[in-house]
Amino acid sequence: MSVTAGSPPLDRLKALLAEIADLRHAEFLLDWDSRVSMPRGGADARAQSAATLTRLMHERLVSDEVSGLLEALDGVEEEDDAALVRVARREWERASRVPAELAAEMAHAAGVGVAAWDRAKAASDFDSFAPHLERQLELKHRYIECFPETQTAYDVLLDDYEEGTTTADVLHVFDRLKEELVRLIERRAGDGSPVLHGPFPVEQQQRASRIVLDAFGYDETMWRIDETPHPFASKMGVGDVRLTTHTEEGDLISLFSTMHEFGHGVYEFEIDDAYARSPLGLGTSSAIHESQSRMWENLVGRSPDFWRWFYPQLQPLFPEALGGVEEEAFVRAVNAIRPGPIRGDADEVTYGLHIILRFELEQELLAGTVAVPDLPEVWNARVKEYLGVDVPDDAHGVLQDMHWSIGFFGYFPTYQLGNVVSVQIWERARADLGNLEAQFERGEFGSLREWLRERIYRHGSKYTLRELLTRVTGSELDPEPYLQYLRTKFA
Ligand code: ZN
Repeated sequence: MSVTAGSPPLDRLKALLAEIADLRHAEFLLDWDSRVSMPRGGADARAQSAATLTRLMHERLVSDEVSGLLEALDGVEEEDDAALVRVARREWERASRVPAELAAEMAHAAGVGVAAWDRAKAASDFDSFAPHLERQLELKHRYIECFPETQTAYDVLLDDYEEGTTTADVLHVFDRLKEELVRLIERRAGDGSPVLHGPFPVEQQQRASRIVLDAFGYDETMWRIDETPHPFASKMGVGDVRLTTHTEEGDLISLFSTMHEFGHGVYEFEIDDAYARSPLGLGTSSAIHESQSRMWENLVGRSPDFWRWFYPQLQPLFPEALGGVEEEAFVRAVNAIRPGPIRGDADEVTYGLHIILRFELEQELLAGTVAVPDLPEVWNARVKEYLGVDVPDDAHGVLQDMHWSIGFFGYFPTYQLGNVVSVQIWERARADLGNLEAQFERGEFGSLREWLRERIYRHGSKYTLRELLTRVTGSELDPEPYLQYLRTKFA
């Protein structure tokens, strides 16, 4: 069936949105390729093509035809159609504020910025990255000016990732977390938890990860996993989910980051195929996304029940490193609180402070109260203050994350909101599913996955974070269950 101009408005809107989704598919693939297999030298050319794709998507979305169709469909009643119109209208409203030229400039700066960051990080040379950070801040200010009615500049950025969540909402949660996390760290630092020492040969780690993925429900015909410096997950379209991980011989972090990325992947994988090629066919918010990655990584993957099943399989893969390590000691080692400079390696307690630090600094950068040239010094001082840790160099400090290089300001808070949300959802799953512990001990994860699919994954972007939380847990965003979980586990 061809859906041309003059077709019923809903069919026509869906057809136009499907074309935009196809362009996004191509954009995701370009992004995946640039992070997994593209030679470094291709960065400038790739930034050009990504900018062109972004401009094409933008122009299609803000067209007069889409605007007319959205108006004609105002008040459509069927539930899924109403959700589609709501999400499409929100995308249209936000995009129509931003000139296509600025959208393309931002995409281009991201491509160039990430390549510059990659080089700067390898050389631990902040000065070479500083002009790119200045450029990103300049673009962010121009972007924020497109939304003059929004209360604070930071709200504009936050709203891109977490619809309807304000800086004040985040502060409300983070202020509460900060006092408790600092207290927990003071009480637990240096508690004598064992430290694991390699070698953990890369090939054996990949075998171990694969055993876990298979038990979680990884399907080779629709998933793949590759090695990258910075792990991520993305779904190109139905039946094509891609995970990445980063494996080093000295530690077992890759195993946990694989479980983390699986959580992102399975969320996208299980979205109802009926939403394919539409704005509903993506995860609904960054915090819900992160709640799922953290759930599979921490609430499942660091639980003693999980290890009762998996340690007997892991141990023989690393006879040299783990031959003399009892299961109980191993579980304590992978759950120890150990303040360090790197967010990606952080334990569940110190992680929150890494995020709070970034949340504060990016607001200060935007407000101009911290100048770019001073950033490394301010960063190092704040890491020392919050975590008691000395930052050895910029690669392990201000340059460790790629986010700012691609213009992701306002994104970091969603990581910690995701931790908070993960425990709210977890409590409800445990109440509904009964003895999950016994299932994990047998290596069975299907009933948890099915529960999550039914209540969260299949809905894609149909509900906002707030609606979904209320539907699933009956409550609003609330840090208390998360804090209670940490206190029970660590205090
Ligand atoms: Zn994540």
